[in-house]
Amino acid sequence: MEPKINCNLCSRLAVLREKNKILYPNFYNDRVLGIGSLYSKLLIVGLAPGLRGANRTGKVFNGDFSGNLLFKFLKKYNISESYSEFEKISNINCRITNAVKCLPPNNKPNSFEIKKCNVFLSSEINKMKNLKIILTLGQISHNSTIIALNKNLSEYKFKHFKKHKINDQITLINCYHCSKYNINTKRLKISDLDDIFKLIKKLLHF
Ligand code: SF4
Repeated sequence: MEPKINCNLCSRLAVLREKNKILYPNFYNDRVLGIGSLYSKLLIVGLAPGLRGANRTGKVFNGDFSGNLLFKFLKKYNISESYSEFEKISNINCRITNAVKCLPPNNKPNSFEIKKCNVFLSSEINKMKNLKIILTLGQISHNSTIIALNKNLSEYKFKHFKKHKINDQITLINCYHCSKYNINTKRLKISDLDDIFKLIKKLLHF
């Protein structure tokens, strides 16, 4: 199950989308679906499309700072074949999606929107029968993923670098979101991303 074009389950986000269609007529301005095979062993869950990133390009994590950084790491660790800022990412060996599929004001979806969109994240995860590792970027994506997995949030608290055993097959790893703000404030270091991707590679035996 995927959200329809112009999904209006969240009225605040639907209103913002209509405004952006006027302000930014060349932008994609719609819900952004996940990319990469549903048969992947690795799922990366971000927060929501950024105004000038996925909301502009229509591709998850594409076109802004956080996407460029994430895709560089996917290439560095051979999870994708190629990426440059001018070239599209190709042949990714993972699935990438967001907890909330539409652009929220100030990058902050509210609890209603997070809950409404969770049905789509849950459906996406349930289709991933080979799933072994989930990387959640930031607390909202972590909480949304735990809810989508039908687990209790009090037993699975977000902590940077923490590994959570979801079941015999799936391990969930927490990392701060690779946003420009987190990098500039050094909340997330580039070396942290190296450590996270080394761990993922080790766990997946890529
Ligand atoms: S955030 Fe999700 S549920 Fe809300 S309008 Fe967009 S696609 Fe629909």
